[in-house]
Amino acid sequence: MIIDSHCHLHDPAYADLRETLRTAFAHDVWGVVAVGVDPGTNARTLAAAAAAPKAVWPCLGFHPEAPALTDEDLARVEAQVAEHHSRIVALGEIGLPWYSLEGAVDAAALMARGRERLHRLLELAARWDLPVALHAPHGAAVGALEALLRHGIERAVFHWHKAPEEVTREIVSAGYFVSVTPEVVYRERDRELVQALPLESLLVESDGPWTYRGEFEGLPSGPWFASRVAEEVAKLKQMPVEDVMHQLSTNACSLFDLVWA
Ligand SMILES: [Zn+2]
Repeated sequence: MIIDSHCHLHDPAYADLRETLRTAFAHDVWGVVAVGVDPGTNARTLAAAAAAPKAVWPCLGFHPEAPALTDEDLARVEAQVAEHHSRIVALGEIGLPWYSLEGAVDAAALMARGRERLHRLLELAARWDLPVALHAPHGAAVGALEALLRHGIERAVFHWHKAPEEVTREIVSAGYFVSVTPEVVYRERDRELVQALPLESLLVESDGPWTYRGEFEGLPSGPWFASRVAEEVAKLKQMPVEDVMHQLSTNACSLFDLVWA
């Protein structure tokens, strides 16, 4: 059995929550860490967790790559965190922009705004002693790592991780987790990442409803993919899948302070 450490259960694809969780369970996925990206999706994430408290652990987030999100939206998310901090398992997803900077004429200003927003969110995480689920791909990873260290954040995961090797090494030696998606089944970069890192630093996720290529082509995406990711991690590590699933679940439980079911 395994936990999907990052899924957008707020998405309309999962409107039938009971069926989503049933399918996940049939694929050995017994719990989902559900992230939000703005005030509206955060509210839907809390509702999903209230409807299925044993299988859904909610996070409240503010996505760094959504240019339309305003400072008022951020203030609303801050208020949501203040109100619900005892019910949530993390802030996420939050982070720094990267993809949305490409080709932007005001990329430097957008990055500066992103840093300031992340700073505000990490202050909240520190205040409530919450871990964070980060979106900080490629060149954004090093800035996010610096921000975590500056704020004294002890628990974090770099979701769908991709970064220069030396940055990844620093992330892991600082005690943070990195997570991999179904891409690990068919993408060499992700396979090398898994082989290079200790199992104790890894999480698996679906990032549903994001869709994938390879054997996942045309399949509906969801938490049920997490067990296939774990199976592939086991192959890469040349370890029994049961042992790998147990360690990956232990990692998720320790990061998000979840109670083992
Ligand atoms: Zn995501």
